[in-house]
Amino acid sequence: MSNANSQLKHGKANYNIAIDGPAGAGKSTIAKKLAKKLGFIYVDTGAMYRAMALYFLKHDIDASDQERIATSCKEVDITIEYKNGEQFVILNGENVNSLIRTEEVGNMASATSVHKAVRLKLVELQQELARKENVVMDGRDIGTYVLPNADLKIYLTASVKERARRRWTELQEKGLVADRDEIERDIEERDNRDMNREFAPLKQAEDAIYLDSSELTIDEVVDKIMEYFNKIINDKEV
Ligand code: C5P
Repeated sequence: MSNANSQLKHGKANYNIAIDGPAGAGKSTIAKKLAKKLGFIYVDTGAMYRAMALYFLKHDIDASDQERIATSCKEVDITIEYKNGEQFVILNGENVNSLIRTEEVGNMASATSVHKAVRLKLVELQQELARKENVVMDGRDIGTYVLPNADLKIYLTASVKERARRRWTELQEKGLVADRDEIERDIEERDNRDMNREFAPLKQAEDAIYLDSSELTIDEVVDKIMEYFNKIINDKEV
């Protein structure tokens, strides 16, 4: 019996794993671990939306100003680089990784990712990466829109309460004071926006596996996904 790693040595050119789900479900932690185990590249698409949001904030562009957003999408240059497996987002020549993790940028990313111009620009970059590399890509519309032919699609979620608890702990660990009820409201608002936007909303792809991480550890989720992936590889081999 082969496993993913041995098969990949002689297998097809590249594999794509899509992980979608709402904010705080654990996507990035899990996708990163999974990518490391498999020797794949981890593509964090949220970071791309955050980099765009940073540009809009820096240039005082209102989240609802569709026209200015569409024009600036033509001016903004976003590229991705990898160093030791870590993804760096380059916005107009500047590495912005250390600037995009704030709540302000996150909220702006949520508000501006509803615009079709923003999505089309970033989807192109995401598809290009997946064409060239074995990727674990996480986001909101990866299985439904960006990579409809991904080899494995996971819809990863957790209860709003649990996601708020995780976010709160994360902020505490960074020494930041946060109100848990406010985080919960924020998460609900983001879910609502992601799930109800007109273009490429967050929803489970028909062929995605639903995974609720509320009661599972990170390693348990990673192991489950590894199992699904190994099964896919083995089935393809037969
Ligand atoms: O995942 P993260 O919180 O970093 O994403 C920031 C925002 O970007 C999300 O709130 C979501 O609205 C948006 N996003 C998206 N599609 C993706 C990834 C992120 O709309 N594929």
